[in-house]
Amino acid sequence: MHELSVCQSILSQVETVAEENSATTVSLIHLQIGPLSGVEVPLLKNAWTIARADTLASEAELEIEEMPITIRCSQCGQVSRAKVNRMICGQCGEWRTQLISGDEMLLRSIELEK
Ligand SMILES: [Zn+2]
Repeated sequence: MHELSVCQSILSQVETVAEENSATTVSLIHLQIGPLSGVEVPLLKNAWTIARADTLASEAELEIEEMPITIRCSQCGQVSRAKVNRMICGQCGEWRTQLISGDEMLLRSIELEK
């Protein structure tokens, strides 16, 4: 299961931060996930309940911010929102666009308790 390994990689980052700050408990984990990241949010939430057991984050709440797909047009330079299967410029309809955001899977912040 892909999402479980994603959770485990998040947890190892979280545990590193917690250790550096001598925290005993992680109360909140804030992630940013784009629709092009390949991560399915509902599956990630399911996997989370399994992955967090017996870790510093066993009580942590998982807060997921779903990021929009944003593109920049190679012709008119317009920055616009796009959909997964329709990444064309919102201004002129050009299809040669550059992805600015939408493929991220970031650990944005965590809250620790000491
Ligand atoms: Zn354009």
